Amino acid sequence: MGAKFKKMLYGGDYNPEQWPREIWQQDMELFDKAGINSATINVFSWARLQPSEEVYDFHELDAIVDTLTRAGKQIVLATSTAALPAWMAKRYPEVARVDYEGRRHKFGQRHNACPNSPVYRHFIQELTAKLAERYGSNENVVCWHINNEYGGECYCENCEKAFRVWLRKKYGTIEALNQAWNLTFWGHNIYDWDEIVLPNALSEGIPWQGSGEFGCEKTAFAGISIDYRRFMSDSILDNFRLERDSIRQYDKAAPVTTNLMGTYKGLDYFKWAKEMDIVSWDNYPSYDTPWSHVAMRHDLMRGLKNAPFMLMEQTPSQQNWQPYNSLKKPGQMRVQSWQTVAHGGDTVQFFQLRRSVGGCEKFHGAVIAHAGTDQTRVFREVAQLGEELNRIGDSIIGSGTESKVGILFDWDNYWALEYTSGPNVDLKYVDQISRYYEYFYRKNISVDMIPVDADLSKYDLVAAPVLYMVKEGMAEAIEAYVAAGGTFVTGFMSGIVNESDNVHLGGYPGPLRKLAGVWAEEIDALAPEQSNEIVFTDGSKDECGMLCDILHLEGAEELARYGSDFYAGTPAVTRNVFGKGRVYYVGTVLSENGLEKVLDLACGGAGITPVIGEETELEVTRRISDAGAVYFVMNFKDQELPLPAVFAGKKDLLSGRTMEEGEMLKKYDVRIAVLQ
Ligand SMILES: [Zn+2]
Repeated sequence: MGAKFKKMLYGGDYNPEQWPREIWQQDMELFDKAGINSATINVFSWARLQPSEEVYDFHELDAIVDTLTRAGKQIVLATSTAALPAWMAKRYPEVARVDYEGRRHKFGQRHNACPNSPVYRHFIQELTAKLAERYGSNENVVCWHINNEYGGECYCENCEKAFRVWLRKKYGTIEALNQAWNLTFWGHNIYDWDEIVLPNALSEGIPWQGSGEFGCEKTAFAGISIDYRRFMSDSILDNFRLERDSIRQYDKAAPVTTNLMGTYKGLDYFKWAKEMDIVSWDNYPSYDTPWSHVAMRHDLMRGLKNAPFMLMEQTPSQQNWQPYNSLKKPGQMRVQSWQTVAHGGDTVQFFQLRRSVGGCEKFHGAVIAHAGTDQTRVFREVAQLGEELNRIGDSIIGSGTESKVGILFDWDNYWALEYTSGPNVDLKYVDQISRYYEYFYRKNISVDMIPVDADLSKYDLVAAPVLYMVKEGMAEAIEAYVAAGGTFVTGFMSGIVNESDNVHLGGYPGPLRKLAGVWAEEIDALAPEQSNEIVFTDGSKDECGMLCDILHLEGAEELARYGSDFYAGTPAVTRNVFGKGRVYYVGTVLSENGLEKVLDLACGGAGITPVIGEETELEVTRRISDAGAVYFVMNFKDQELPLPAVFAGKKDLLSGRTMEEGEMLKKYDVRIAVLQ
């Protein structure tokens, strides 16, 4: 389990260094009015803490810590290492990153340090040790926040050298490396470690649609590029570890975290979470992001450590960096916050507490707007939530979640599937996972997002859409799970490659073939304007598209077949009995209705039930605390919806009122009730 706070933190990023000191006291009074009990400070202050290589200056941070401590606020203390000071970039140009096109960057922006720069690594350790030595014994410092939104990549010479060392450790011999990357293809065989170059636009990168946008590039050798992603994730994680260990020299108690970003592609968060005391993340849905997607990201963040998490950032109202930064409607921030808690959030924190006067985030929402007053709609909503969290938040802290459904999520698969050239450019990893998650979300079935090495025996149903890369030992683990009675759902583009992106020979889905009882002889790719027809065994028809596996039954039974093209009449969806369990194979991208039909069958067979018996369009999510099961009932729909009957006569913890049968929830309404 992760760390547990005594009090539900309610606050967020606070940058008093950007303001004259007379404002600070006003801020403390406004925080009290809003029920804010914590502040995250020192996120971007390196230039002020260390104005030159030789000088450290903590007098301003001392004053900030002192102000917050005297006001009784809990402090989340950041380490400031996510933006380089100007003197460092000038004196040591190697600290700046080299990008995908091979350009060395100058001073500017943030998230801009080369993780393998010895100079950067030296300075971050020195700075964090000084911070921990100075503030580690302050009881109000309840959490350490290392760096900020780690990500990106570097292609400099230091990284290239470090990549070679990383590879040597992994492969041992040049022969093993040549084989793993299949370098006989195009005669790319290498003879010595120093011939290895980083896979970017100057080497193996393939210009592609969306190229230039992070994570959209293609590559001539996915094996090299996947290893580079693993290496870069490890390199940046090593920066995190350096800072964490520096802190631990002086503060052995306060939990250490860094703010993650949901399904962000660049870092293997399951690996990262093992090094973190508690997971925290930043939740920034767009105006049109489905609420199920937000819920899935919460569940993924909870799944990283199978423990409650911190919501390090969300905006109280508006964002600034999206194309369309719409306001959160009245009640929207409140329900979004309760949804966070419902899915395992043990804190609710904002970016930011006071809106900055300049820079690219001056239009980013804040608790205290440019008007500088508590007389705003946003402030009133923040204060209302503060009162609610203060009243009932602490009874929920640390409570868990019970799920009988697990969905596999794996960064190696994410990278490998999207690096591959063909068969269909529209195939995106997170999209496919989300389609499955949405089904369970609509049905109010609790889901755990789990890593590929999870203990599957906890679950009655495990879904593994696009399990493209099946690493060593995985097929055996899934076979054992199904043989013992588990239900496993997988499908197209699964079991295709090994951990180096080389194809499992002998017919798709490779090591899953025996389990699924099917052989996929060919994979057709359909353009967005094309579709095929799917005919279920009950005669009902639906559409499918994007990818169509052409399947042969090898023991499985057919649940649906294709209706058109030269493979009309061949199986598209199948079910196989394996030991005491069942394996469903979905050979094509089904419509929402089609997928629902298949998953209804799979859930029915596996005895999966929703958190409440009654069907409803409300989101109903449950956490299990010592006091009983806490149910969060939320309306994200555009129409009013009736409260499910099971809650009639129960007390709504938010209003204190006894709920009535048939009462209606308006859009963004929330009810919270404990059922024994
Ligand atoms: Zn570098």
